Amino acid sequence: SQLVLQNSEKLTVAGQLAAGIAHEIRNPITVIKGFIYLMKSGYGDKEEYFTIMASECERIEQILSELLVLAKPQPIKLEPKDIRFIMMQTVTLLHTQAIMSNVEIATQFEQGVARVYCDENQMKQVFINFIKNAIEAMQTGGTLTIQIKQKDDDHVIVRFIDEGTGIPAEMLKKMGQPFYTTKENGTGLGYMVSKQIVENHSGEVHIESEWNKGTTIEISLPITRNS
Ligand code: ADP
Ligand code: MG
Repeated sequence: SQLVLQNSEKLTVAGQLAAGIAHEIRNPITVIKGFIYLMKSGYGDKEEYFTIMASECERIEQILSELLVLAKPQPIKLEPKDIRFIMMQTVTLLHTQAIMSNVEIATQFEQGVARVYCDENQMKQVFINFIKNAIEAMQTGGTLTIQIKQKDDDHVIVRFIDEGTGIPAEMLKKMGQPFYTTKENGTGLGYMVSKQIVENHSGEVHIESEWNKGTTIEISLPITRNS
């Protein structure tokens, strides 16, 4: 269910989003409406219809909850945090999913990394999204290496290096466009939302990828100023 926009570069981000939301939400609603009509006419297996309708509702909910991060920008609560700690908590959270996918998560955290002014919950959300994408890209397993190190006096960098499918060059251009997904159950919002959160923290996201080799996502975040 990939949205194809012609002249997409001429659309504003808000315009792309609006078009995407309309498209993505109309599909499940069409399905639900269809089943309601069928049931009204007394056709088919109601139990089966209910299951599909519930899963279509869940899909809408998933899309909306991811969008809310953008639509209702929560006031970011910036506090000096050790992001190695936030990362460890996130890795623990996703440990089971990694094991089930045969993915080993290797952490390489430099000693004495400075604290970063960030909103802990939002940063967790970013880490979850990038780790999930990495795991999902390694269909036959592999190693996800997560590095945290000091870049210079003012920045800390976080790298997610996976051994997954990689992203073909022509697809790389589409990263960050809302609803761009290659997954059957993907929303195509995780990357965009994460990038937005990092930029709200005055940080940057860089992506490097090679088809059949893997992907590296690098986040650069400004550190706490001494005061
Ligand atoms: P979703 O995960 O729901 O598809 P995302 O916005 O998180 O949405 O990612 C969009 C698309 O970018 C994915 O469907 C996938 O094709 C590609 N992608 C993102 N991260 C990676 C990665 N680490 N390796 C390979 N492809 C990736
Ligand atoms: Mg994702």
